Amino acid sequence: MSIVPAPAGTGIVFRRTDLDGFEIEAISRNVARVSYATSLMKKGVLISTTEHLLSAFIGMRIDNAIVELDNLELPILDGSAKPFVEMIQRVGIRKQRRSRKYLKITRELEMREGNKFIAVYPADIYSVSYSINFPHPLIGKETFQVELTNGRYLRHIAAARTFGSREDEDAMRNMGLIRGASRENCIVLTRTGIENGPLRFPDEFVRHKVLDLVGDLALLGKQILGKVVADRAGHAMHTALVSRILRDKTLWEEVTFPGKSEDEPLMVASEAAAGSAL
Ligand SMILES: [Zn+2]
Repeated sequence: MSIVPAPAGTGIVFRRTDLDGFEIEAISRNVARVSYATSLMKKGVLISTTEHLLSAFIGMRIDNAIVELDNLELPILDGSAKPFVEMIQRVGIRKQRRSRKYLKITRELEMREGNKFIAVYPADIYSVSYSINFPHPLIGKETFQVELTNGRYLRHIAAARTFGSREDEDAMRNMGLIRGASRENCIVLTRTGIENGPLRFPDEFVRHKVLDLVGDLALLGKQILGKVVADRAGHAMHTALVSRILRDKTLWEEVTFPGKSEDEPLMVASEAAAGSAL
């Protein structure tokens, strides 16, 4: 995989270099399959496990980049967004002149499915409150709340790794996913503990759910201004929220902040790595 700079207004676009450069935009319309990971598909061409890289882009406020890939699955690396963040930090980000367009939530939307819940409420900044309740002695009930401003994504979210049990791993392999998976890129839960500690945060599990949510909400195609609350949700509910928001234009408006300060980076868009091979 390599990330290359893109002009303002491009958004995030995946390019399959093994398929004559076929392009798939990272937007809700192209969401294909959501189970253990989020996949995009266009005209039968698949890109799998997009959420960690897209999460890094949002966390670093990168709006425009082309992601070249010679396979259908993004590299899982260490199971977090940290390697992507570091790679992008190494090559740098360029501000572009066009003002960033935000999707500002103006009306609440709540969705429920059994004991799962996800909602978005009007707010001037992007924040996430995520709760999980996972039947495991190390996890149980965890809640993490964070405002995604002032570098908090990089400090508190980016390094949180994905997790799963041995049984999940077998199931995913049977689906042709995580072919690169090993102890190095996933926290492996055993019945009573973890196989490959230590954890990077005591509540790394719920932080990773925030990471996934941010990555899935990137499929809105714009940075969001709103408060997102999720309880035991997952990729399917995250992406369902995205398509509900986009379908109902009474829920949001598009705003820009011309001439404002650092963290509401107006004229910022992105550049990314030219040819940083992983
Ligand atoms: Zn994940």
